[in-house]
This record gives sequence, structure tokens and C-alpha cells, in this order.
Amino acid sequence: MSKYIFVTGGVVSSVGKGITVASIGTILKSRQISVTAQKLDPYLNVDPGTMSPYQHGEVFVTQDGAETDLDLGNYERFIDVNLTTESSVTSGQIYSEVIAKERRGDFLGGTIQVVPHVTSEIKDRFKLLAEKSKADVVIIEVGGTVGDIEGLPFLEAARQMRNEVGRDNILYVHVTLLPYLNSTKELKTKPTQHSVNELRRIGIQPDIIACRSDYPISEEIRNKISLFCDVERKAVIPLTTVSTIYEVPLVLEEEGLGELITDKLKLKPQPPDLSQWQELVNLIKTPREPVKIALVGKYVELEDAYFSVREALQHAILHHGRDLELVWVSSETLENSGDDSILRTVQGIIVPGGFGIRGIEGMVRAATYARENKIPYLGLCLGMHVMVIEFGRYALGSQEANSTEFDAKTSHPVIDFLPNQKGQKIKGGTMRLGNYPCKLTSGSRADRAYGQSLIYERHRHRYEFNNEYRQRLEKAGLVYSGLSPDGRLVEVCEVADHPWMLASQFHPEFTSRPGHPNPLFRDFIGAAKDVLREGAQPPLPLSSNL
Ligand code: GLN
Repeated sequence: MSKYIFVTGGVVSSVGKGITVASIGTILKSRQISVTAQKLDPYLNVDPGTMSPYQHGEVFVTQDGAETDLDLGNYERFIDVNLTTESSVTSGQIYSEVIAKERRGDFLGGTIQVVPHVTSEIKDRFKLLAEKSKADVVIIEVGGTVGDIEGLPFLEAARQMRNEVGRDNILYVHVTLLPYLNSTKELKTKPTQHSVNELRRIGIQPDIIACRSDYPISEEIRNKISLFCDVERKAVIPLTTVSTIYEVPLVLEEEGLGELITDKLKLKPQPPDLSQWQELVNLIKTPREPVKIALVGKYVELEDAYFSVREALQHAILHHGRDLELVWVSSETLENSGDDSILRTVQGIIVPGGFGIRGIEGMVRAATYARENKIPYLGLCLGMHVMVIEFGRYALGSQEANSTEFDAKTSHPVIDFLPNQKGQKIKGGTMRLGNYPCKLTSGSRADRAYGQSLIYERHRHRYEFNNEYRQRLEKAGLVYSGLSPDGRLVEVCEVADHPWMLASQFHPEFTSRPGHPNPLFRDFIGAAKDVLREGAQPPLPLSSNL
């Protein structure tokens, strides 16, 4: 039977709960304990698929096609597992299910209530993941902050689980913030005390309190939290802000969290081995020569909108022993100003996914710059549409080339709606989602990158390469380096007469892991790192005649 760890958050949001969950997973896994993770999101959307990145940050896609919170990406990268739909639970899903059951007559005669009907539905989701994953430990993050109205049913379900599975099989971890007051130069514990009181009011006494703070936490503060919040002294774990998220498992391990959890849950662990994480963090902290990459997108004001892209770049950069200098370029500004001088300073250009027309012409401009100046380019989903539009305009000699997403009446729809989706009106969950196979063309850059002919990558899109333009663009030098096995869909394409200009219909960023960069990101950085920046001096050949 699986054991459960519930992680709640107090005081403020964005306190690092997701990274704490992911890091607990890492330290348990390093002891040969199998783990999986689940995120509970209290909002009423069924999934974040229809939310703006400004509201929500990146939408992470699982292999089986669930559109989920970006925390799932951190769980996958830290625990190195491929999660599934069961790992993402929202209030929207829970209420839809309970109401559907009521309409079906499953509860005939009964009054449907939050307790027990909604809470039972939630508990079923905990148990379903435990059953399906067969993990030793299921770590569950309760989204939001304790005290939020929407989060109550989730907390109540978490409380009820204690009696169902028994005290030795469940653990409650509360992550809080210790604010620092500059005037008195001290960390304050009162908000933590209040949020623990709030938890207790619901019936949950935390076993462990992880205290996020930008400053070192003194023994005195630890003792105080232990006393006022009624947790053991060793169960007050400092979570001091570190320079890289990949250091958090090491910090928690050093504070004894791994031993504490395995003792409390009466698990039988192997000795921990975090040597690979230590190596990774050592590498991140070593000064390295930077590679300057421009990320040209429309949501650049909110870096979380491209979370997995940034992480994948980071993995690839570390593989090459270099440092990432990421320049966030607003495609809208590029479009409106027409000034691409910022691109002259970079060694590679990445155009990530996105929806809607805003800023598209700025992205096309970046693709033109990359093609004409032979700067490495990686396009991800929308970034492939942009590359095809740009190449189409060049090859067809017409500015009309476009996607019907941006110009429904264009005379050159090089990117178009999937034929079976024409007339589709419903927006939620109607895209091509999750893993699809792709056959790589022998000898292409994509084929060389992956080193195997059949790959699976994750998708999230509606529009596709229009096959009516295949031959014309091929003649002008576009290479179709990855197709769906039936040959109907273009999955990867590249520009032939260019050092490295490649784009994929799928999102390779979702499968990249620290220590195992996605092959497309790895080779993109491999090409970019050798590009000379404007004004840089090429290394001179040493000659004995001088
Ligand atoms: N807007 C494009 C489509 O729907 C691309 C989507 C994406 O980049 N994820 O096909």
C-alpha cells in the first residue's frame, strides 16, 4: 500500500511548494523509494488549457495528453518520471464528476454535499494514483494557500485520509514564508503561527514545517516555531533561498528531511545517493562561458510562461559546459519597432509555442533574421508555424503566406486547420494533445540528434503544415525531417542551406531532464555556442612563422 505525503502552503503563494514537493521526491528516490506526485488545483477550470499564460504560467502537457500546471514539469524533471492525467486534479474536474454522477442517478434519494460527496471524489483521486502508480509514496501538493475558500474541500479530504490509511502512512508538510523586517533586521514567525492555526482549525496538525526565507534562520527562530506550532525541533526545516532550484534537494537532505520522512513513515530506505545532483549543482555554480540566446515570444513579461523551455535550454547548456545568457525579446516590440538590432548580439534564436496573432510578425522577422544571417534557430510548435510562414514567403515570393490561425482568408495557407477539426467550436481539450509517434528522415539533423528513427514527443496544437505546399517548399530547400508514420503530418522540418534552422510541431521541452537534455535543444545549443557574436574576435590560428 502506498503512503501519502500532503504538502500545504501558508502565508503567501509562490513560496516554493512545488519545488519542495519535487525535492522531497528526489530525496526519497535517492533512497530507492519509488515516488509519484499529484497536484490539486482549487480553481473551477477543468484544466489550465483554456487559461492565459498571464494567469497561469506555462501549461505543461503529460505524455497521455493532460494539460496541467507547470509544477508537474518540475515533478517530472526532479523525480525523472513520466506522469499521467491522474497526477493533475482540479476543483473543476471534481465538481463536474460529482454533478455528472448526480444526474446519472448514482446518489438517488440523497442530498449531494461537499462532505462527504465532494471529499470522497477527491479521495478517490488520491487512491487512483496510488493504485495506478504502485509507488511507495504519493506526494500530493495542495495548491493555493491555507485559508483560501476554494481549497477547503481538498484540505478536508487530506484530513480524512489520516483515519483511512493510519497515522504511520501519512505525513503533513506545511511550507511557509518567514518575512524579513528590514527596520528591526529580523525574521518574523507570526504569519507561520497563524497559518498553522488555520490548518489546525481544519483538523490538520503539520508533522513538518518547511520555512522559506531569504535570510539564514537562527536556532532561536527554529525553537520558537517548534514551540508555538507544536512540531519537533528537527521537523522545522529551513528552506533558505538558493541560487538554483536544483540545489533544493541538497539543502533539504542536509537539514535531515530525508531521514525524518523515512522514520516517520516507517519506510525501509537504502542509503541516499545524491551524487549526481551534487555534480549538477557544482557544474551550475562553476563559472562558464555564456551562450547568448534570444527567446522571441509574446508572453516574455512573465517568464513562467516558458518555464520548461528555459529549463530545457539550461539542461542543454550544461551538457556543453556553458552558461545560459537568455535575452527575453518581446515579439510585439520587434513587430512594432521593426528594429532587430537586439538579435545581432545573440548566438541563437528560439521561438516557443503560443496562440493568437499578437506579435506573430515580430516572430517572423526573427526567423528571417536567423535564415538570412545563418543564426541557429529552434522553433517549437508555433515556432515551427513561424518558420514555415517565413520560408513560405521567401520561397513563394509572396507576403501572403500565413497560417489560417492569423489570416483565415490568406491565398497561401501554408499552415492550416486539421481537416477533421474544421467546424470545431469547443475550445477546452480539443487540440492534438500528448504523445504521438514521429518517423525521422535518415540523415536529417533531427535524425542525427535523436540517433533513432522512431520517436515520441508531446503535442498541443490545432494547426498543421499544409500538405499542398510540401513540394513547392521542398524544392526551395525545406527538408521534412520528421513525419507521422503514415506520412500525412509534418512533425519536424529544417532549412537545408543553413547551419542549423529546425522546428518541430511537438514540444521537445517537456521531455528534457537535467543530465538528459532533449536532443533538439542539445544540438541547437551545440550549433549556437560556436556562433561568433557581433564584435567578437575569432580565435586566431597559432602560426610558428609569427
Ligand atoms: N497556435 C498554434 C496551434 O494551435 C500553436 C500552438 C502551440 O504553440 N502550442 O496550432
